[in-house]
Amino acid sequence: MKPISEIFPLLSEPKKIAVTFHQKPDADAMGSGLGLYNFLIQFGHSVTVISPTNWAGFLSWMPGGKKVLDFEMQNEKALNALNEAEWLFCLDFNVLSRTRNMERVIADLKCIKILIDHHQQPQTEVFDYGISDTQKSSTAEMVFDFIINSGHAEKINTEVSECLYAGVMTDTGSFRFNSTSADVHRMVAKLKQTGFNHSQVHENLFDNFMEGRFRFFGNTLLHRMEIFYEYNTALIAIPQKDLIKYNVKTGDTEGLVNFPLSIKGIKLAAVIIDRGDERKSSFRSKGGFDVNTFARKYFNGGGHFNAAGGRNTEPLEVVVEKFKNALKENKEHLNN
Ligand code: 5GP
Ligand code: MN
Repeated sequence: MKPISEIFPLLSEPKKIAVTFHQKPDADAMGSGLGLYNFLIQFGHSVTVISPTNWAGFLSWMPGGKKVLDFEMQNEKALNALNEAEWLFCLDFNVLSRTRNMERVIADLKCIKILIDHHQQPQTEVFDYGISDTQKSSTAEMVFDFIINSGHAEKINTEVSECLYAGVMTDTGSFRFNSTSADVHRMVAKLKQTGFNHSQVHENLFDNFMEGRFRFFGNTLLHRMEIFYEYNTALIAIPQKDLIKYNVKTGDTEGLVNFPLSIKGIKLAAVIIDRGDERKSSFRSKGGFDVNTFARKYFNGGGHFNAAGGRNTEPLEVVVEKFKNALKENKEHLNN
């Protein structure tokens, strides 16, 4: 993978570009993707943003959001855009398996592949150019750096700002996590100078849910949460019937894993959800417990030191048992 700076001189020649990110995109994936989109179109490039799967309704307000293609639902259009692309930007993931059904398509594409990402252990051999930096708060911050370093700061308009702000705000837990550096605050100051309404962005992301989500959270915290004080750990395991009963949509479960992490003494919080086709897990930790390694070792996943996820094909009860055994194996680390 060659340094991303090598593509800066090529930015001013209009070309066909596709932008993608991980499946079930969060606000950082969608925000960095659409932030980049709103930057690139100013050069006259023809840009198509493609999501490997559907996404949460609270992300669709972003400028350009209505044009994003769903690879599963608009497969032919998405395949055409991918096959015609001269450049493909891959954002907020670094292993192709995170693009679900797009994995094989991307692997076979002959176009130039460019990575911008902050997850650990990248599959760098897949990408022609790129930047991978696990110290960065968000991919949105990295797209901001990409724009600044390319010498086109003047192209940061309100559209770019709204999207990048959404990404950096959510991936830093509203500027709370360790990754919130002075550079992050300088970035936000620069975005804010464009005059975009950050309160509106916050409202779009956090005050846009249906009643069912809160009834679901209530039921989940009351009936599905188990605390293992001997391991300083909380687990929430959600059967598929709950998702059906409360009409839980894509994105509705985001943030759930943070609730048990607020309990005094809890160092590891896990949510395992039976999504029908797979068991999706989310892990969060406070302090010195490395959930990236934990997710890789037991749950076919990965992510960051304090936030990671994974997926399993076994039934929910089996994955929960696996989790409990993993706690035993990690007792020493969890008790520190
Ligand atoms: P979440 O729990 O919000 O789904 O994910 C937390 C972090 O772990 C995110 O940075 C996400 O990209 C990463 N992550 C989630 N699921 C997976 C997975 O299945 N594989 C890998 N490698 N990373 C994941
Ligand atoms: Mn991210």
